[in-house]
Amino acid sequence: MQEPLFLQPVFQEKIWGGDRLHTVFNYDLPNDKIGECWAISAHPHGTSTVENGTYKGHKLDELWANHKELFGHASGEVFPLLTKILDAEDELSVQVHPDDAYGLKHEGELGKTECWYIIDAEPGAEIIYGHHAKTKAELQEMIESGDWDHLLRKVKVKKGEFYYVPSGTIHAIGKGIMILETQQSSDTTYRVYDYDRKDDQGKTRELHIQQSVDVTTIPHKDPELAIKEIYQGNSSVTTFVSTPFFTVYEWNVAGILNLKAQAPYTLVSVIAGAGNLIVDKQKYEIAKGTHFILPNEVTEWQLEGKMQIIASEPGNEK
Ligand code: ZN
Repeated sequence: MQEPLFLQPVFQEKIWGGDRLHTVFNYDLPNDKIGECWAISAHPHGTSTVENGTYKGHKLDELWANHKELFGHASGEVFPLLTKILDAEDELSVQVHPDDAYGLKHEGELGKTECWYIIDAEPGAEIIYGHHAKTKAELQEMIESGDWDHLLRKVKVKKGEFYYVPSGTIHAIGKGIMILETQQSSDTTYRVYDYDRKDDQGKTRELHIQQSVDVTTIPHKDPELAIKEIYQGNSSVTTFVSTPFFTVYEWNVAGILNLKAQAPYTLVSVIAGAGNLIVDKQKYEIAKGTHFILPNEVTEWQLEGKMQIIASEPGNEK
């Protein structure tokens, strides 16, 4: 049966979180310190639940384990992707993630390559993206002496930009930024620096200096993106990045957009506007904040209305 899987997100409280997942996305939140909406997730730290149809009430990790046909019998023990929306009311910690080899060896889970679509950014908002150390010794020394101003590379960001953050990249999302993140399904984070912040119990969060030095790519090099845009009437499809981990698109719907599956399954998040998804002549109303998966049987679909959507597909990583 051709049926999209609409998903119920999981919300995560963070010391840097805020209330914009409620004010901008209309989600019901338990409090106003919510940093992350895990929108499409089969990770054990927060798994999405199907809201509709044949699989209503099922969790995504369970579908991955027991209904491989939905995913074109894709291999792999874990669902490979995780889509999040992050609301940084304050700075996130400066961090770096391992690659798969290091992650599996030391943490028992995959590494994490991620990418960010900037949904919104206050004027002057900045991210940390890379570093200025030329050697491992220099990186170690600058971290140990807390020479953050010289070590960390700051980049001003604007709404609508896209950043690819391969494993090994030192990074942090700054204050006043909201992003949609597409990443490998991993929760392994090595914290380099946390602005000496304390939580409400007066405790600082753990740092992982040795692991950070081990996994950081030196010197930093900006990845080269070959962004492609294809028009269909007034609508368009932008391909931001295509890697062994994932391919990420923006679908700009202005009227009608007809699409065909490019992979065994597709993850979809509406980040602005409203309209309809049409699959097998069935019409589903969708709007900002709706997240769903188009499983293997859905080979073509139509979008109508005025919407901005970020979609992703698994890569061919083995
Ligand atoms: Zn990260």
